[in-house]
Amino acid sequence: MTKNTWGQAQTELRKTVGKNAYASWIEPLNLVSLEEGTARFDVPTNFMRDWVSRNYSEQIRLHLLNAGAEVERVEFVVPKARPVPIAKVTEAARKPARATPAARAEEGELRGAALDARFTFDSFVVGKPNELAHAAARRVAEGGPVTFNPLFLYGGVGLGKTHLMHAIAHEMQLRQPELRVLYLSAEQFMYRFIQALRDKQIMDFKELFRSVDVLMVDDVQFIAGKDSTQEEFFHTFNALVDQNKRIVISADRAPGEIKDLEERIKSRLQCGLVVDLHPTDYELRLGILQQKAEHYRGQYQGLKLADGVLEFLAHRITTNVRVLEGALTRLFAFASLVGREITLELAQDCLADILRASDRKITIEEIQRKVSEHFNIRLSDMIGPKRTRTIARPRQIAMYLSKQMTTRSLPEIGRRFGGRDHTTIMHGVRVIEEMRTSDPQLGEDVELLRRLLES
Ligand code: ADP
Ligand code: MG
Repeated sequence: MTKNTWGQAQTELRKTVGKNAYASWIEPLNLVSLEEGTARFDVPTNFMRDWVSRNYSEQIRLHLLNAGAEVERVEFVVPKARPVPIAKVTEAARKPARATPAARAEEGELRGAALDARFTFDSFVVGKPNELAHAAARRVAEGGPVTFNPLFLYGGVGLGKTHLMHAIAHEMQLRQPELRVLYLSAEQFMYRFIQALRDKQIMDFKELFRSVDVLMVDDVQFIAGKDSTQEEFFHTFNALVDQNKRIVISADRAPGEIKDLEERIKSRLQCGLVVDLHPTDYELRLGILQQKAEHYRGQYQGLKLADGVLEFLAHRITTNVRVLEGALTRLFAFASLVGREITLELAQDCLADILRASDRKITIEEIQRKVSEHFNIRLSDMIGPKRTRTIARPRQIAMYLSKQMTTRSLPEIGRRFGGRDHTTIMHGVRVIEEMRTSDPQLGEDVELLRRLLES
């Protein structure tokens, strides 16, 4: 009974804390007892115990409560005999002979974040916006000679970066099971590094990371501004490149646009192949929906899907693929619950909130992109310090449009313009407001941009 309750709570926790944090901090927890209002968990290390109890214990308690367990306290205990002795891991890492995949999985420390079995090349729908990224990922996964290194994938949230990285890892493990492929988020890289520092295991850490054949680090923008982690990452990176080992990195923006990332790291990242995942277009969204719907048809036998529903969703939900998928999941679940055909009407009804939210969801990033394209300046100048008129004016236009077209506050807008003060934003907004009437050319530019963004 307790295992079931915990299973249920885990499912919910996965949704609330996110996949990466879940894999790092929740998954390794082992519920040992649930008695007299106390839930007791085994955790592998002291560091983890402290971290989890500081950051996640209340959430864990609440989800256990929700799952029907009467829990007042949550305790984390490190068992006397550690399940994953670090010495064993490094020994394995030193061994010239390669361990079997199963043995390697047991080594634990080498195992990165869990791979999502659904994220394969087969399930990845290719369209114009992602074809280059997909081709590059395929090339890496084939494991041929290393002609470019690293592969740097970037793009906005929910556009398939993590999916592609997992697909690469799956494919490589399939083709060359003996390869040591390590996939983890930059956040996990950092915590492991900190943990190694605390446990005085830094040499082991270094050795471990230098012993892999393929290193994949997701969401590398996370280490920006974290100096010692960057330093370590840089050394790991160089050591692997020198040994001609494969590296795949993802981030939410191009290397040059990651603020607070050391120059030498930026330039090393730019040395490889840098490809971006563009925002989805209608065809790609429809393709993804069709693939998903096919899958659900198998799952919900007998459920009817009316013509035009997928087209409607592809047209209306343009934010990101994750939201799109969520909408379809909910739609099928709802229709099967009420036993009705999925019609346009049902979709409008059941997805009212999502449709409303994506109605006019214009982001500051989109505004910055469109404005810099329009004025032919670099996107990075939007957030950079340059003050020449040819840059400052477009920047002020972007500030003005951000204020007009999004619900963001001035301080929030300031943050997205490279950490500028809200008074700077206010000033920019005023300047453009005044100039719109005094300078007809500028007024036209602003109107044009607004229409482009709204379309
Ligand atoms: P990111 O890491 O870029 O934020 P993810 O890789 O986590 O995005 O993708 C979000 C969701 O959208 C995942 O469920 C993923 O499977 C799905 N997805 C994104 N792009 C595609 C695609 N081209 N084909 C199929 N599914 C996709
Ligand atoms: Mg991701």
